[in-house]
Amino acid sequence: MNFQNSILLASVLLSMIGVSCNTQEIKTNDKKPNVIIILADDAGYADFGFMGCSDLETPNIDRLAKDGIIFTDAHVSATVCSPSRAGLLTGRYQQRFGHECNIPPHDLGMDTTEVSIASAMKQQGYQTACFGKWHLGKQEEYHPNQRGFDEFFGFLEGSRSYFPNKKYDEPGNPHEIQHNGEHVDFTGYLTDVLGDKAIEYIDKQKDNPFFIYLSFNAVHTPMQATKEDLKRYDGHARQDLAAMTWAMDRAIGKLVNKLKKEKIYENTLIFFLSDNGGAHSNQSSCLPLKGWKGNKFEGGHRVPFVMSWPQELKGGQKYHSLTSALDIYATAYELAGGKESPGKKLDGTNLIPFVKGENKKAPHEQLFWRKGGMAATREGDWKLIRLDNYGCRLYNVSNDLGETKDLQNEEKFQMNKMKQSLENWESNLMNPLWTEDKYWNEVTFEIHKALMENRTSTVHSPADLDKKKYK
Ligand code: CA
Repeated sequence: MNFQNSILLASVLLSMIGVSCNTQEIKTNDKKPNVIIILADDAGYADFGFMGCSDLETPNIDRLAKDGIIFTDAHVSATVCSPSRAGLLTGRYQQRFGHECNIPPHDLGMDTTEVSIASAMKQQGYQTACFGKWHLGKQEEYHPNQRGFDEFFGFLEGSRSYFPNKKYDEPGNPHEIQHNGEHVDFTGYLTDVLGDKAIEYIDKQKDNPFFIYLSFNAVHTPMQATKEDLKRYDGHARQDLAAMTWAMDRAIGKLVNKLKKEKIYENTLIFFLSDNGGAHSNQSSCLPLKGWKGNKFEGGHRVPFVMSWPQELKGGQKYHSLTSALDIYATAYELAGGKESPGKKLDGTNLIPFVKGENKKAPHEQLFWRKGGMAATREGDWKLIRLDNYGCRLYNVSNDLGETKDLQNEEKFQMNKMKQSLENWESNLMNPLWTEDKYWNEVTFEIHKALMENRTSTVHSPADLDKKKYK
């Protein structure tokens, strides 16, 4: 029997036992995987079913987590929105290019000499789109369309109303909803709209490898939800957050269903994570972690983090080693066929060999954080926090996840080693290109001091500072 006849016979036999063997499907599976990053905003570490939450409902995100791998010790590179996104989209510590602080001033944004993940994916033949919050600069040169995204539907600022709002929705206002620079009058609830736009895009691009950055502003303030979703949680202790989370989960569920309907879910690499810890102002919970958005305790930077790629990665797993959102770039780019970094040296690493068990080490031996006078580093389970003009704390999160027991006197060697490695890392950074409001800096300092002393902070905003001063 010649080769062709063998194939034919094999196909006939396979079809007889119900296994489809058409070339179309083989082709689909050989295709480069689509990549989708789903980013939540200010969502708490503990606020998803798959993270153990019992009062907020996230059935669709939980299903995604079940199909994929849950990373229990994954971190973003900053504890506030803009620098965290700069790290995520460049795969590099954002302090390397001065993007250390939040809210770029009007004329600045993410360094244009950095090659964004979207540009990198485009180089590999991907269609690229960003939906939602940008927060990486408002000037033309920082616009998503200039940073590798073929399509942008969303807003340039850091937050906005979830409903049409006269204050924001003026053409030219950086909060306006726009499509590739053109003003859009949207209707409905923004979380639903962003999800639907991503689905429309998938419908257009389903036959091409695509890269989507779906950057929800949920569950950032203002706390706004639809009447129907609020009604569902009538009497709930965290009614607004529960409703907003439910809406985000609904949008993600619809997106996943679309991928399944088009039979591309299996070969789509999906990341789900939050851009920083739960905020103090949005009813979120980071328990059992200490701290929240904006500070260097685990609650500020350890985030819910899922990676799903059913075709290649066994679902239902948990991965416990130190991982970073900086790894998303390297992972996506290598799967797309990229070899060397398309720009400067990446700080992240391809996660696939680690989760497949081919590499037994941790993706990172160390991670680092710094914003202004507050810095931190993790080395394995050790955690060092350094507050300028105050001092340091050393914790071991393996048996003290809540970071309450300072070990700096007992573990002098470890303490000095980590202080030194933090300084070594800092020697490769540049000074921040912009700084934060001096009152907010003082607020953050006071919060760190209180948490380092295991006290409850009485200061949460500049208004609290003023009150103290006037006492
Ligand atoms: Ca955020």
